[in-house]
Amino acid sequence: MVDNDIIVAPATAMGGAIAVIRMSGEGAVECCDKVFAGRSRLADAAPYTVHYGRIVDGDRTLDDVLVSVFRAPHSYTGEDSVEISIHGSKYIASEVMSLLVRNGARMARAGEFSVRAFLAGKMDLSQAEAVADMIAADSRASHALASTQMRGGYSRSLQSLRRQLLDIASLLELELDFSEEEVEFADRSHLENLLNHTGAEIGRLMESFATGNAIKEGVATAIVGAPNVGKSTLLNRLVGEDRAMISDIAGTTRDTVEAHCNIDGVQFRFVDTAGIRTTDDRLEQMGIERTMKALREARIVIQMIEAGCSGFEPVAVGDGQTLIVVANKADRSDDRSVNDAIYISAKSGDGVDELRARLRSTVDTERIYAGETVVSNARHFAALQRASEALTRAMTALHSGLSGELLSEEIREVLQHIGEITGDVTSDDILKNIFSKFCIGK
Ligand code: GDP
Repeated sequence: MVDNDIIVAPATAMGGAIAVIRMSGEGAVECCDKVFAGRSRLADAAPYTVHYGRIVDGDRTLDDVLVSVFRAPHSYTGEDSVEISIHGSKYIASEVMSLLVRNGARMARAGEFSVRAFLAGKMDLSQAEAVADMIAADSRASHALASTQMRGGYSRSLQSLRRQLLDIASLLELELDFSEEEVEFADRSHLENLLNHTGAEIGRLMESFATGNAIKEGVATAIVGAPNVGKSTLLNRLVGEDRAMISDIAGTTRDTVEAHCNIDGVQFRFVDTAGIRTTDDRLEQMGIERTMKALREARIVIQMIEAGCSGFEPVAVGDGQTLIVVANKADRSDDRSVNDAIYISAKSGDGVDELRARLRSTVDTERIYAGETVVSNARHFAALQRASEALTRAMTALHSGLSGELLSEEIREVLQHIGEITGDVTSDDILKNIFSKFCIGK
């Protein structure tokens, strides 16, 4: 994965007025010169300049283009690179790329530009992953998350954790060098403070994952209630203005339906579920199983009842879940007896804004907009979890007076897991796994 041969790929989706083809590697500028007819050679051009000319294949002109020239080490990949802006035709793009391949480039693999940027030290692994999140961002909140991470906010938090841990480990390892003399350089109560502090920071990052993940994936919101209470009507009202896609999840006669909508900068992912009731119908049972699953996975549960109905029982929700009771068809009844319920008419839209505000208030975006580090990547969360477990073992080792050697081993493990996030500690397999999920040209 440390090649610096010349790679080429489309950098934009086709279909627009302009498409960009990107090429990087040693000799990329000279390679482009072989097919570029402009006022002067690109190889003689000052870096970070843009040049008008034609891409020619012998006598044939493929397109009029603009070429931007970047020189190592100040480019995205850290290598010599060019970006060729062509007319946004799939045909022209493929002709230009195959011409470049005939002149010494090869097609890039998925994520290969970003791998090179990572290997050149242009960004750490969490920043490279944020590039993918940035491209996938579909709301103000998910954009803010990706943007903070891409600009290195998260990396800085992790670096400061690593520094603290390295200090502890070095002190302990210094003791080992003087083991004959039984000295303790690392004051144990100071150590305990440092470990506590690190543990608290790792804990805070892990805790932030619930919000970070919800924002990235869309806040999972299940709508439950008896058949005909108005769930589909509410869903259509919530997403209608947003023109979100409503798609049936294939399978049974009474299916769950999922829809997305953006409420004040946050994506919500609604699941309209099958009513929960006992039934012998196998298809309906399958629908109910799906409802239970949607319920378990939801961050918010909207329980829908009919205004004026009797015998209201709130559904049980788990830790970290929020229950919002909505009494629908308030246009048909004046009964407002269920405390804390939001009375709405899904049909007319009355009260739905209050519901939107309540939904939005469950997601705290202030700290995200302020640039606070929030974990949104499941791989990072898993690494933090392993780091936290190793830290707990280190704490136990400290309390039971175990040797500095054992203690420092555990601390080295914490360091390793944190290093996996930034890529300080990594393997080709991990890199392949991460970057293969990127698209070509990224
Ligand atoms: P679901 O089975 O829970 O998805 O319920 P639907 O959304 O299909 O609605 C069932 C019936 O209730 C339909 O005939 C709707 O038009 C009606 N309905 C839904 N919301 C309201 C409302 O706010 N007021 C009134 N009067 N009828 C409603």
